[in-house]
Amino acid sequence: MDLNNKVIAVTGAARGLGFAMAKALTEKGAKIALIDVNEALLVSAAEQLAGSRYYCLDVSNEAAVEAAFAQIWQNFGALNGLVNNAGIIRDGLMVKGEPGNIISEMSFDDWQAVININLSGVFLCGRAAAKLMVEHTQQACILNISSISAEGNYGQSNYSAAKAGVEALTTVWTKELARHKIRCVAIAPGFIMTDMVASMNQAALQKASAMVPVGRGGQPEEVASMAVNLFENDFINGVVYKVHGGMRI
Ligand code: NAP
Repeated sequence: MDLNNKVIAVTGAARGLGFAMAKALTEKGAKIALIDVNEALLVSAAEQLAGSRYYCLDVSNEAAVEAAFAQIWQNFGALNGLVNNAGIIRDGLMVKGEPGNIISEMSFDDWQAVININLSGVFLCGRAAAKLMVEHTQQACILNISSISAEGNYGQSNYSAAKAGVEALTTVWTKELARHKIRCVAIAPGFIMTDMVASMNQAALQKASAMVPVGRGGQPEEVASMAVNLFENDFINGVVYKVHGGMRI
């Protein structure tokens, strides 16, 4: 897909990987619909990206997602891409303790919050975008952001389950949407230096850095350049690309 003048919605676009991908796509001539919950950062992101507009909403709110995509169609008159990127972490062991002493457990709230945003949010935005793409026969591509944690990471029952679900959705949508000329791909980043990572405790941060064979965390721009490649290359479909510096969990 030639990205010039194509319209792409990016969720979680106010900062981190979402902003880096929105910026890289803008530099290729795409017009971005920036979606996020953080209005202050959205305003600043929109000011930096020529041709963009912003939409402040929670991707796990069905009515808000439906309204936002209707508004995106009204504003741009096209939708050629979606980057399903918004996500959160609420880490913790499912059960922490020892014989005779249960210390803590992952709360159902922490389970549900991550599943709602990282999995249901991907479904809701994917469905809303695909409806527009199918109805108006747009040449289109959906990019889902997974994580190497999809393989099952210690202390991430909620996050790993959600990301494994995101990879399954990528396969399903590839099959279901192919006849409409819509591709679906995913990126599974490893350890990338964004605010989400900065919120990890220092010990976990150091341990994670030491596990990366290239010897450092990745930069958001290194994920963004892969995103641009996946949109541009029409022969790539139905796969999950790992951008992880060789890191295994
Ligand atoms: P980030 O720096 O925390 O940015 C995420 C953005 O999404 C924030 O602006 C956040 O707003 C927004 N957001 C959160 N909940 C939302 C919701 N319900 N609706 C709309 N927007 C919402 O995170 P990141 O590191 O860039 O991560 C982006 C994606 O990459 C996530 O899916 C993450 O799982 C994945 N990933 C990241 C890494 C990494 O190492 N960084 C590795 C693998 C996968 P607020 O901050 O205001 O809540």
